[in-house]
Amino acid sequence: MRQADVIALTERYVASTYRRYPVCFVRGSGARLWDTEGREYLDFVSGLAVTNLGHSHPRVVEAIKRQAERVLHTSNLYHIEPQARLARLLCERSFADRVFFCNSGAEANEAAIKLVRRYFNLRGENRYKIITMERSFHGRTFFSMTATAQEKIHTGFGPLPEDFVYVPFNDVEALKAAIDEETAAIMVEPVQGEGGVRLPEEGYLEEVRKICDSEGLLLVFDEVQTGVGRTGRMFAYEHYGVEPDVMTLAKALAGGIPIGAMLAREEVMAAFDPGTHASTFGGNHLATEVAATVVETVLKEGLLENCQRVGEYLMAGLSGLKHSHPFIKEVRGRGLMVAMELSIDAAPIVDECLKRALLVNATAGRVLRFLPPLVIEEKDVDQMLELLRAVLYGFKEG
Ligand SMILES: *Cc1c(COP(=O)(O)O)cnc(C)c1O
Repeated sequence: MRQADVIALTERYVASTYRRYPVCFVRGSGARLWDTEGREYLDFVSGLAVTNLGHSHPRVVEAIKRQAERVLHTSNLYHIEPQARLARLLCERSFADRVFFCNSGAEANEAAIKLVRRYFNLRGENRYKIITMERSFHGRTFFSMTATAQEKIHTGFGPLPEDFVYVPFNDVEALKAAIDEETAAIMVEPVQGEGGVRLPEEGYLEEVRKICDSEGLLLVFDEVQTGVGRTGRMFAYEHYGVEPDVMTLAKALAGGIPIGAMLAREEVMAAFDPGTHASTFGGNHLATEVAATVVETVLKEGLLENCQRVGEYLMAGLSGLKHSHPFIKEVRGRGLMVAMELSIDAAPIVDECLKRALLVNATAGRVLRFLPPLVIEEKDVDQMLELLRAVLYGFKEG
């Protein structure tokens, strides 16, 4: 089908929940994508931090084929071998003792919120409030949307579930002041993603952990975006020497096959006994076989090291653009989760980049976000910088 026909069909038949760019990709390899007209693009979005191994990674392709030929799905009425192996792999590589599998980030957060509620309920403690951070993003189901402390995401959906409390990120005093005897948990992205790649200040997450310990609260890390190598460690919390009680994963976990996971310490996950939570597709053979392959590949192919090295290179390159473009306020990031904060809107720059076949993302209004696959090399960054440089010359401050 031609691009114009795809666009016409989408506009006629698909719910208009997304503002889409007028392009339709039909093939990908590594950090490259091709549209219906055969034009090649450089991908610094990775399907929003999903295709961390790049497009059509041979191990991912092989895992999908291998599992499709065996069995795709049998339900959690029965044991599922790759699910058991993936759970072990995730627990061996993290603070966690057990994993609940679902199909998306929002679902993983929904599971985390239900677990927190039930954990205190079973202990006979009247704690149910959850504190989340301004500019956070936790998903679009009712609870995960309410956990998301952004006005624009709530508009028109009220009344929302109660008992979420919002505080500014990186503000320990506000956090302390928000806690009362009914507070159950603090839920936070170790590095805020949709909020504009906002990093925790030195000592902040350590302080949050201490507060949870002294107040008897659970700490939930939403690593849906940061997880699976994006920041140069398997999980972002490893940078900060702080472990959560509960963690959620999704996006990159199965490299583009839908999956979500909620991990917890033994004592906490014990609140989910048979019949308390479930998902038909959750942890099925295909998703978990592919996810196990993705996690093993990140380790086997040295992608964490690559992510750290090329991430530094990318940030240095972007910072180098600052002196010629005063509207660049700051370049920040961890690994290959990188942002360029501007004093002008980022969306028109993304449009211009697309015209030059470069995919980057705009978030939080004035933030250009770079989320290339973890397999990229310095020469890909050089190519991106050259394209971006040409685009930025067309923009002025104010
Ligand atoms: C994308 C994202 C989610 C939501 O994931 P979905 O799979 O879209 O439901 C939740 N939390 C964070 C941090 C995310 O980046």
